[in-house]
Amino acid sequence: MSSLGPLSRRSFLVNASTTAVTASLCSPPTARAEVSLQANDGTDQLGKQNKVQLSQIHGPSEQNEMAPEPSLPANKRVGFAVVGLGRLSINQILPAFGASKHCKPAALVSGDRAKAMKIAAQYGIPESSIYDYKTYEQLAANPSVHVIYIVLPNGMHEEYVVHGAKMRKHILCEKPMANSSVEAERMIDACSKAGVKLMIAYRQQYEPHNRALRKLITDGELGRLRGFLSTNSQQMGDPAHWRLNKALAGGGCLPDVGLYCVNAVRFLSGEEPVRVSAQIWQPKDDPRFKEVEASMSFTMHFTSGLQATCTTSYDTHKSQSLRMEGTDAWAEMSPAYAYHGNKLKWSKLDKGKETQFVPQLEEKDQFALEMDHLAECILKDKPPHTPGEEGLQDHRVMEAIYEAAKTGRLVEIAPPKGPTRAQELQQTA
Ligand code: NDP
Repeated sequence: MSSLGPLSRRSFLVNASTTAVTASLCSPPTARAEVSLQANDGTDQLGKQNKVQLSQIHGPSEQNEMAPEPSLPANKRVGFAVVGLGRLSINQILPAFGASKHCKPAALVSGDRAKAMKIAAQYGIPESSIYDYKTYEQLAANPSVHVIYIVLPNGMHEEYVVHGAKMRKHILCEKPMANSSVEAERMIDACSKAGVKLMIAYRQQYEPHNRALRKLITDGELGRLRGFLSTNSQQMGDPAHWRLNKALAGGGCLPDVGLYCVNAVRFLSGEEPVRVSAQIWQPKDDPRFKEVEASMSFTMHFTSGLQATCTTSYDTHKSQSLRMEGTDAWAEMSPAYAYHGNKLKWSKLDKGKETQFVPQLEEKDQFALEMDHLAECILKDKPPHTPGEEGLQDHRVMEAIYEAAKTGRLVEIAPPKGPTRAQELQQTA
């Protein structure tokens, strides 16, 4: 793991003298709130006034053709530095810039310069905007970088987020936020002190099927929520991968994939679990699981009577689903948590007959949606929908799950500080 020294005064001074656009994107909230949303050319900062809608040529029996929402031109887009060029960055995040409306890749940070050069050439990133872990702090002086996107092993998130915040760049950090709630608290504190936004990349909260299910629940279609059943599991191969190293991963399947179940029930229900019971499986004769768990099952209890029973594993074939059961209907996503191909159906009594509904929703790039959300929050000075506190509460829940598994007892979970989950969702949805 690299070690970053303290940021130099010079890097702050260089950063402070960047262009007006950069200042509006990177300055503390108080200053940013004064920035006008009117751009010089008369369009609003998100370019909404540039929307073009052509006339409809089909008959009334056909669906209307809708033009996409307008995109920002390259010189007005929010620039992202992608830190760590692994599977997620190369296979999902960088291609997602092509579907983004407000963001552009502006810099890369990698320990492998040859790989970074190839990627930079593909995405039109200048060679001067390629950094490694020793030169990370030089991002401070790059005016085209407004957001640092941390896509490193979990155990490195805190270090790179804290130093990124000190560079006065906004932060998007992959899930899990860190290795522990203590680290997560330090990250929130660093971003708050620096006056920069911190968002955790819970892509499923921006994904259309999840959003539709959340709306069914808030519209009362399911009645009172009683049961949530979910699994997120996969088969791990390489025993040397960092995901099986406790210091780099924080744990095994729970913080990596089981976390999706925890976050989904909190997001979909708008409620917080108050206690948990759990079981853990770690076969020490399997070289993959010398340091971290192979499987876990856990049940989260909510004051409303909702109970969420979840399983997660690094030792089963990929399996991803969720089911929310209410007093009046149930809804199911299978697959859930996938990059592509999520499906939603729900069932209730309709005119005396049990009827299944399968909403036909357009698939959208979840990574582009979440990056665009952060860009909008920066341009309009709004809090992100999945801030650091969202990641922190998931860590508190996961710590209670581990404790419950270790002791064989029910473990209480302290409520989050600040506004309730339902209030937060109203503010940022
Ligand atoms: P990978 O192992 O594929 O990539 C991690 C990258 O981090 C490496 O390629 C390397 O990039 C860099 N790195 C720096 N130091 C180390 C180190 N000591 N060991 C290993 N890698 C190092 O991981 P993923 O891309 O799958 O995961 C990265 C993050 O993204 C994790 O936090 C993970 O939980 C999260 N994630 C989120 C997903 C989502 O759907 N939201 C899905 C998958 C992952 P380089 O060679 O450029 O230095």
